[in-house]
Order: sequence, then C-alpha cells, then structure tokens
Amino acid sequence: MMIVLEGILWVFRFFAGACFFSFLNVVIYRLPFKESIVHGRSRCPDCGRTLTAKELIPCISFLIQKGKCVGCGVDISGRYLFVECLGGAAFVFCSAFFGHGMSGLISLQGLIAFAYLGILTAVAWIDWDTRVICDRFHICILVLGMISIPLFPELLLMDRFVGMVIVALPMFWIAMLVDGAFGGGDIKLMASSGFLLGWHAMIPAFFFALMSGGIYCTCMLVKEKIGRKDHFAFGPFLAMGLAISFFYGDTIFGWYLSICGL
Ligand SMILES: [Zn+2]
Repeated sequence: MMIVLEGILWVFRFFAGACFFSFLNVVIYRLPFKESIVHGRSRCPDCGRTLTAKELIPCISFLIQKGKCVGCGVDISGRYLFVECLGGAAFVFCSAFFGHGMSGLISLQGLIAFAYLGILTAVAWIDWDTRVICDRFHICILVLGMISIPLFPELLLMDRFVGMVIVALPMFWIAMLVDGAFGGGDIKLMASSGFLLGWHAMIPAFFFALMSGGIYCTCMLVKEKIGRKDHFAFGPFLAMGLAISFFYGDTIFGWYLSICGL
C-alpha cells in the first residue's frame, strides 16, 4: 500500500513540474513577440482556435491528439511535449536531490533548484530562437539568489560575490577584445548565476558550456551548416553547464582540486 502511495506521489510530482513548464512554453513563445504571458487564452498558431481545457493537459493532451490540432489537424511542435516532460523530470529530480520537505512534495531548496532550471530552460530556448536573453531573467536569477541565502548557509556571501565576477569578468574582457565573442546577455547570465551558485560551481559550468558549444560548433562547421565567421547562440550551452553545476559543481570542483593534489 505504501509503495502505491509513494508511486502516486512521484506521478503527482511529475505532473506538478509538467504544469509549471507548460506555462513556461507560453513564456518561451510569447515573450519574444512582446505578447502578454498572463492575458489571452492559448490558441492554435495555425487556425487561431482557442484551445479547450481538454487540450491543455500537460503531456497527455499532446499524446491523445497524436501531436495534431483538433480543429485544423496541423502538426503541433514536439517541443511543447519535450519542455513539459523536461519540467516533470526536473521536478522529480529536484525533489529526489534536495528531499521532499514539509510539503511532502519538494523541499524549499528543491523549489529554488526547480525555479532556476525553469529560468534556464526559458533562457536557452528563447536565445536559440531569437539570440536574445532578456534582462528580466537575470533579475529573476538574482532574486532567487537572495531568497537562497538562508536556505544554503554553507555558501558564503563572499563566494557568491566572487561567483558574480569569476567568469563574467573574463567574458567581458574577451568580448571587448574580440567583437561578438560573447553577447551581453550571456555575460549577465553568468554574473547573476554566479550569485546563486557561488564561484566554485561557476568554473565547471563555464567549462561544460565551452566543451558542448565547441563540439556543436565543430559539427556544424564540418557539415557546412555555419561558416567560420558566423555566430551562434551560446546561451543554451551556458544554461546546460549551469544546470549541471547547480547540482554537481562543488563536487566536480572538489575532484579537480584532489586530482591537482590541492
Ligand atoms: Zn489548428
């Protein structure tokens, strides 16, 4: 009986995460067009029909409708389903990593982690689509950082302030020397995230971003999809590195020091 109840709770956690990321889909699609994210019902982008409540159930509606609009039959982007599943998986992971807390669903630390993953997901998709990272995301990360101060007391204020400059400042200098090396949004993303993660985690975060961005860029050059002087969105790679480092940055930094014999 306990196992069944526990199973139901995990399913509930998944759908809680999927619901939040379903809203994130609205943010990802509307924000670049400066549309309101709270007003206006969701519509089919093709026929303009307002979606019914039955069509808005995260993950399930997409699967029941086989990825097609009920009204006009046009294919719905698989990205909606992917982002919702990502939200479900993120909530489950944060709850497992930081514990279930007093609510029995997720602890406050887990909630901070989940909110941060949400912001990073929105940043990554919007930057991929538009090559812009809005300032409001940097502000949200700074606010999360401030809320997290009493929740992560092991992270000293000095670690947070050093975290703000340890990667962002060299990025700024490189951007000054090499035109278009990094966008202002990328630099601000690393500065605001540094306050939330602390400096230990920022180094592996940037390393992961450079590695994955470098691999992507090499593949695109080999396939001749981009030229040597073309720019590409670096935000998704930074977001990926930051997401990994939020959970494992300190551990990776510790490994690195032990390998170096420090
Ligand atoms: Zn339609």
